[in-house]
Amino acid sequence: MNTKQIQDKLKKLAEEEVALHKELKAAKGRQLIACSLCRKRSKVSNLTYIQTHFYVYPHGCVGGDYWSPNEGQYECPFCKHINRLYDRPKVVSLKGSFKEVVNTHER
Ligand SMILES: [Zn+2]
Repeated sequence: MNTKQIQDKLKKLAEEEVALHKELKAAKGRQLIACSLCRKRSKVSNLTYIQTHFYVYPHGCVGGDYWSPNEGQYECPFCKHINRLYDRPKVVSLKGSFKEVVNTHER
């Protein structure tokens, strides 16, 4: 292969990679996750991912206060139960395929 052919092939591969990531996101969004309370299943792409944060107080003489990401949650559309995801890493891994991600900050 000459330089031009290699560059063309790389470009094609990059485009293919972008398309595959898109497809993966959509496929993850089609997955169904069950509510831990009513057991009804919802499509990931229909749900809002709630990213909670906890407040870290100032410490020492240089450490300022800040917010640190805490567990993820989502509300069941059927029973309105807030599902906590600290022990559901598989659901957390689908975060990018939820309808949207909202950040909450609570002290
Ligand atoms: Zn439910």
